[in-house]
Amino acid sequence: MDKNQELSNLKKKILRLNKNFPRKNLVFSDGNKDAKIMIVGEAPGRTEDKLQKPFMGRAGKLLDSLLEKVLLDRSKVYITNVVNYRPDKNRKPTSEEVKKFKKLLYKHIEIINPKCILLLGATAASAVLNHIGPLSEIRGKWKNIKIIVSYFDILTTFHPAFLLRQPAKKRIVLKDLNMLINKKNN
Ligand code: URA
Repeated sequence: MDKNQELSNLKKKILRLNKNFPRKNLVFSDGNKDAKIMIVGEAPGRTEDKLQKPFMGRAGKLLDSLLEKVLLDRSKVYITNVVNYRPDKNRKPTSEEVKKFKKLLYKHIEIINPKCILLLGATAASAVLNHIGPLSEIRGKWKNIKIIVSYFDILTTFHPAFLLRQPAKKRIVLKDLNMLINKKNN
């Protein structure tokens, strides 16, 4: 089965998970399905729900500008979220929701088969790395983790929504993005 077919089958499975979300628009992914870098965020917000693409609002604009600083753009990365529907009132996804979507996120990673993965923030780190402590414990550290049957190099950094509140931390994220570029090129 080719990647497009596998992604379309995965979409069908994710469409069955929308029952408990007031917003039923599937926000599946953006970018290049053959990219070496896969980026995983938390969940769509209002703009993403409307446009049905991840990272389209203020946090998305900031993400794009940081990617641009390391010469990346959406044609060179593949972007998705842990949860593919907008939670009501812009709340964080619950741990039950994360658990429900996790299996399909793993499948998504297996299908894309990136060279490296960048997790944005605590929800992505909890879903992919089972990390529940402070983000500072794992931020900027490579982990080599088995997802279904293959091992992937995974780096965690701050979520761009956090950077909107703490712009001084952008410098650290740029450092992490440079680590990502080095890994992609090696
Ligand atoms: N925050 C996320 O984690 N994902 C989006 O798509 C938008 C904002």
